[in-house]
Amino acid sequence: MSAAAGSVVLMYHAVPDGVLGPDDADPHYSVSMAQFRAHLRLFADLGLRPSSVRDLLPHRGLPSASRGLALTFDDGHQSNFAAFAELAAHGGSADFFINPMTVGATGYLTWAQLREMAAAGASIQSHGLNHVFLDELPAAKVEMELALSRRRIEDQLGQPAELFAPPNGRMPAGLTQQARELGYSAICSSRPGVWLDPHAAEIARVAVLAATSTATLEGWLRRSPWTIGPALVRASLLRSGKRLLGNGRYMAVRRALLREHRAP
Ligand SMILES: [Zn+2]
Repeated sequence: MSAAAGSVVLMYHAVPDGVLGPDDADPHYSVSMAQFRAHLRLFADLGLRPSSVRDLLPHRGLPSASRGLALTFDDGHQSNFAAFAELAAHGGSADFFINPMTVGATGYLTWAQLREMAAAGASIQSHGLNHVFLDELPAAKVEMELALSRRRIEDQLGQPAELFAPPNGRMPAGLTQQARELGYSAICSSRPGVWLDPHAAEIARVAVLAATSTATLEGWLRRSPWTIGPALVRASLLRSGKRLLGNGRYMAVRRALLREHRAP
């Protein structure tokens, strides 16, 4: 496995253990704890140690041999606390993209939990101040989402966010440049692909969904083009849909697309 260049960056959301509660996220994006444990076994079988994107940034100075796989979790769900404990027990780490405004709300991580995770090596990063679509905001508000979330995280955890993941993958023109000007190293987007250039301003991620089978995940990690292909096609359909349809209709079409592409 070490022959492949760059890193595959996986995007998770909630990892509920058992039945989904009313405060849990979109079930399409939720991976059960049992699935997640199967993923951890797969990574070990393939000789891949999951890292955070932050720890693979060039300025951290890690040898390139340690690249290969990074895990990220969006939205700061309460279930991420147990998922990180499981991951850390396997010697791995991940980035957690949080919205400071929802930290401590029902179903979400608290600052105390985030501090504990950060002390154990988790990378806590910004998903914006609120979970709002940046391509629908005036430029001044986009800047607030980027700058204030970074400062809030620094105030609470003692270190500023280095990475930014735009909610729903929505990227207004110039977002990567703006993020860099405000002190971020890179954007973790929702465009699928492999992270090849360590200095890239935008880092591609592949979404792990409830319907993603372990075999599909293995195909991604082995970089099989016929398995990562459908993910690229789906992402391009979802992206063009965002431009062509209004938000409400887009969300309905998105749900239909995600169901349609559910793995057997
Ligand atoms: Zn999100």
